[in-house]
Amino acid sequence: MSEKSAFDAVVIGAGFSGLYALHRLSGLGLDVRCLEAGDGVGGTWYWNRYPGARVDIESMQYSYSFDEDLQQDWKWPEHFSPQPDLEAYANHVTDRFGLRERIRFGTRVNRLRFDEGTSRWHIAAEDGFTATAKYVIAATGSLHAHNVPPFPGLDSFKGTWHHTSRWPAEGVDLTGKRVGLIGTGSTGIQIAPVAAEVAEHLTVFQRTPAFSVPAVHRALDPAYEQEWKAQYAERREVMRANPSAVFPTVPRFGSVFDHSPEARQEILERAWSARNGLLFLQAFTDTMVDPAANEVVAEFIRGKIRQIVRDPEVAELLCPKTYPVGTKRICMDTGYYETFNRENVTLVDVRTHPITRITESGLRTTNASYDLDVIVFATGFDGVTGSFTAMNVTGTDGLDLREKWADGPTSYLGLLVAGFPNLFMVHGPGSPGVLAQMITGGEWQVDWITRFITHMETEGHERVDTTVEWERRWGAEVDGAADHTLYKRADSWYMGANIPGKPRVFMIYVGGFDRYVQRCTEQVEAGYEGFVFDGPARGPVHANTHAPAPATD
Ligand code: NAP
Repeated sequence: MSEKSAFDAVVIGAGFSGLYALHRLSGLGLDVRCLEAGDGVGGTWYWNRYPGARVDIESMQYSYSFDEDLQQDWKWPEHFSPQPDLEAYANHVTDRFGLRERIRFGTRVNRLRFDEGTSRWHIAAEDGFTATAKYVIAATGSLHAHNVPPFPGLDSFKGTWHHTSRWPAEGVDLTGKRVGLIGTGSTGIQIAPVAAEVAEHLTVFQRTPAFSVPAVHRALDPAYEQEWKAQYAERREVMRANPSAVFPTVPRFGSVFDHSPEARQEILERAWSARNGLLFLQAFTDTMVDPAANEVVAEFIRGKIRQIVRDPEVAELLCPKTYPVGTKRICMDTGYYETFNRENVTLVDVRTHPITRITESGLRTTNASYDLDVIVFATGFDGVTGSFTAMNVTGTDGLDLREKWADGPTSYLGLLVAGFPNLFMVHGPGSPGVLAQMITGGEWQVDWITRFITHMETEGHERVDTTVEWERRWGAEVDGAADHTLYKRADSWYMGANIPGKPRVFMIYVGGFDRYVQRCTEQVEAGYEGFVFDGPARGPVHANTHAPAPATD
């Protein structure tokens, strides 16, 4: 019997948002299939299995809220979950809610085409699988399209190399090896201390130092777990009303400048010891908006680096000085800075002397050669948009998503793109994405999409689109929110600055998750303002939506 290929909805990606979308849309009675490139569920937590991989949001928060029994039953072993625990949780949820049989694994979607005649999406995958669906939910992950910089000579390398997000499931034995680690973002900072424990020598190639605060991993305290479980429903409500979709566990102290230098120091010391990086940035209300306030916090961390790292030259090289703290993702580490006190660890500055090529025996910079057995690329991702554009998406009028986004991504509410009807994005550009807690944010977006689809089915709509004008208005809100902060001052992946040639556009809505929820709700309550049902999108779909928005009243 040939495989079924016509569905009401196709969900792309079996990460946390995709699994939940599969569950919710199936609950509407729709015939839904989830297509997953990997051989297992978990998304980010399926792909990123490098040593030291773990989340830096507390386990009690970084989990689904949609089912009370699930959140009461599940026992997280650790305060911050390592990758295997998150993958185990994703598998548990998949089986508990009977989702597995509706997931097609090993199915990397590489073509999405909207057929205007039938108002159906035609979906094709690398392995030859094809399908049609009325709705597509792209839950493809903000950090899936991995970035291996095109250093010449990589093919000639006689050792082994791996990007951290394509780490082999069977692991990589670094014991006694000369390991080269390229990249010092959240990933590099997690892997370095673990690799240094076993490697003969670890060479860390750093282009830009990161700010990091201690995580101090620990078992989950049973009393803390009980406290959460007793109040889960109320605390989830608080999270949904929080700008970062988290439960605030660190007190806030107003402006940095409300306090004497001694009092500031004391507050920051307490926040440092609270072992929660993201909340560290929230100890003061002006850290992310006032450069002078930010500098106080940044200098506090530099002071810590200088205290921890014994060699003053190495310490200085590890001190970030070129961007405000928090404008690149603040990292959380376990012994990262201490790693540079080890005899078997060397820090190499590839800002001053960039890597020029990979050689048979290692790599070369503009002033030295390094012999290596293993090269680890912790070099990040084509973030936010990479996983969407990689699917070769064509909308109405033959509109190509890459072309449409040539000057930077556009969207309406981070959910729809004009000219691509019935294609809903989760964590798309223009949504709070990675700047709010991802599981709660994803759950909320999936709930919104589910309500939206329910409306369409009830009203008998065949398709929904948005317009360039509404993309422009939303783009202006996204941009305006970022302009109130310091985020644009960093060459971050939030800005697309890490990928050569990618347009520099701040891709994330930083107005707050709570405000985002309010805006999406308002637009629906205002009679689905900005959405066009059952017609071609009004106005041109190719227009440059990064032009300044016309004044609205
Ligand atoms: P990343 O933050 O983009 O860091 C990539 C690193 O590679 C940067 O240090 C970058 O330097 C360096 N790099 C890139 N190209 C290079 C080149 N040609 N030569 C030398 N260095 C190069 O990527 P990531 O560390 O994988 O983290 C991505 C995101 O994943 C994080 O921001 C976070 O949102 C998420 N994450 C979270 C956790 C967690 O929850 N604990 C853990 C890991 C990742 P430049 O800075 O100079 O570009």
